[in-house]
Amino acid sequence: MSGEYDVVVVGGGLAGMTAALTSARLGRRTGLITGNVVGGQLVSIDKIEGVPGFPEGVPGYDLCPMAQEQADAAGVELLSGSCESVAAAGDRWSVTSDGSSVTARGVILATGTALAKLGVPGEERLFGKGVSECASCDAPLLRNKVAVVVGGGDSAMQEGLTLADHLSKVILIEQGDALTGQASYRDRVSANPKIELRFGATVTGIEGDQTVSHVRVKDLKSGAESDLETAAIFAFVGVVPNTALFRDLVQLDATGRIGVDAAMRTSAKGICAAGNVRAGSPHRAAAAMGDGATAALAIDRYLANGEWGGPA
Ligand SMILES: Cc1cc2nc3c(=O)[nH]c(=O)nc-3n(C[C@H](O)[C@H](O)[C@H](O)COP(=O)(O)OP(=O)(O)OC[C@H]3O[C@@H](n4cnc5c(N)ncnc54)[C@H](O)[C@@H]3O)c2cc1C
Repeated sequence: MSGEYDVVVVGGGLAGMTAALTSARLGRRTGLITGNVVGGQLVSIDKIEGVPGFPEGVPGYDLCPMAQEQADAAGVELLSGSCESVAAAGDRWSVTSDGSSVTARGVILATGTALAKLGVPGEERLFGKGVSECASCDAPLLRNKVAVVVGGGDSAMQEGLTLADHLSKVILIEQGDALTGQASYRDRVSANPKIELRFGATVTGIEGDQTVSHVRVKDLKSGAESDLETAAIFAFVGVVPNTALFRDLVQLDATGRIGVDAAMRTSAKGICAAGNVRAGSPHRAAAAMGDGATAALAIDRYLANGEWGGPA
């Protein structure tokens, strides 16, 4: 990887793809570093909802490759590996990935978020052996078995519904006393005979020899703990922004997300942020795409006139 770009986009989810696509269409030489997951968080989601122009339930593995094809066709150059650093290099930025560097006058950070861990014993040891983050990947392997989903928000309900299509039973454990996500998911989850809801509880441990055999469930009112037999556990209990690399580069908010102004400009001249990684993101596909386009336009204006804003 080498060369001088107008713009380098870091992150290959919908925010990064849209930013790169828009930038290339504006005539800017644009490089895209996708990291491990081309297509981002949504690529493994079975049924995506709420994206205008796509049928409700469009699979992520259909939608995300389409965005990538559009970016390719617009002339975006795919740069291999994961970004390791972004550092000032005169009036340009040096972006390093897999040990080699390119430079760019504008950089768009779109590294998204990772799912938060439960942080309980057994979670790390049994990851990939019943501890999973992807319902559509593992549901066919769990046919007619029982799985636990932790969380009561959109992701937990969406993935719980996907699991319920294949499994005999899904036990959804939420620490509060109600489901918290969108009404359209709440209604379907509540009406699904295969989904059992347990409120006021949490998982305190995951156990099994070679694979998950049961989880330890704590009733948060009484404090009582009990074992629950399950073949798998999926936790959707929040997300963590992928910003460790950028801590000394741009201003972050208290949650670790990148501060931006309305044009997605960060505190560093020539660097924008887009998608789930930016402060105030509504965590929706449509919003990530909008951010990407906004960021590409802001960088394009900066390259034309050198003017910069940034968060207050
Ligand atoms: C289970 C689940 C279901 C969801 N369902 C829906 C839905 O139905 N409808 C909806 O509107 N929204 C949904 N969302 C939210 C939606 O996924 C996000 O809002 C959106 O995908 C965010 O896109 P993004 O590009 O900002 O981040 P991501 O999709 O997370 O992409 C980030 C990208 O950055 C890359 N990356 C990370 N670190 C580096 C690095 N160092 N170098 C290079 N690249 C890096 C990753 O590989 C990835 O490609 C769902 C989320 C989850 C978790």
